Amino acid sequence: MVAVPLLVTVDVEIAPDHDLDEQSEVLDRLRKDLHGFPVTWFCTAVAAEKFSEPLQRLAQAGHEIGCHGLDHSRADDYRHMTVAGANSAIAIATHRIATATGQRPRCFRGPRMTTSRHTQSALIAHGYQADFSVCAQRMDLLTCGGAEMLWLFAPRGAYHPAVESPFRRGELPIWVVNLSSLGVPFLSGMLYLAGLGFMRSLFLALLAEARRTGRPIVYLFHSYEFAHLLDQCQQPLHQRAYISNRVRRYDMNLALLNYMCTSPDVHPMTASMFLEKQQ
Ligand SMILES: [Zn+2]
Repeated sequence: MVAVPLLVTVDVEIAPDHDLDEQSEVLDRLRKDLHGFPVTWFCTAVAAEKFSEPLQRLAQAGHEIGCHGLDHSRADDYRHMTVAGANSAIAIATHRIATATGQRPRCFRGPRMTTSRHTQSALIAHGYQADFSVCAQRMDLLTCGGAEMLWLFAPRGAYHPAVESPFRRGELPIWVVNLSSLGVPFLSGMLYLAGLGFMRSLFLALLAEARRTGRPIVYLFHSYEFAHLLDQCQQPLHQRAYISNRVRRYDMNLALLNYMCTSPDVHPMTASMFLEKQQ
């Protein structure tokens, strides 16, 4: 039986419209409830500093810390940065995250999943091994602020990108690892919108593809999703249809993770554990 890699990834950014203490507390709660299930935490530099202690505890417990840019602001957009801009942002974010968490990030996911060829050349220069900012063949592009039309034609699974484009196969030493999707992305927003039954079916379809092709399954949720929303007006329209009960959201994510582990060939692993197997 060939192992199917399962990469659960959490984006850790500060959501100013959500309760800040709860955004910190949930990191410790997840560490306990995950019971050693290895997860990759993509942190902005600002979040790494603000939640430094719970993130250090996660790193010490065997989890992986990744880079999610500087501060997730509008300017922190990796699609349109110059070579110098991307280099500076990656250098500063890497240093701040490593200092705050005790672990130097080796994997990157741009805020709102933004990336570019300049970003990837900066990532390579700073020792990164993978960019998780692509979601190939995702159809709901309007609900993702950083989405690229080119995602529709990007290779699925993990691939080496071209020098000219992160969305084509090529010779760069870095890996692109897609967020899984089958028209819709495999992330928690879909879980809150369509429910656990739908996500189990989506997982089974991705599992069938993974068994056939050797591709990894990559799931995404955000740590702030379990903190209370302070300002309803700021919420994007599509998110108003989500299940709003924070406890229910938390339980649904754990239930989905448990369900995915019931297949004996599914092996949960961090991003770096997966990349070591690709060499
Ligand atoms: Zn984010």
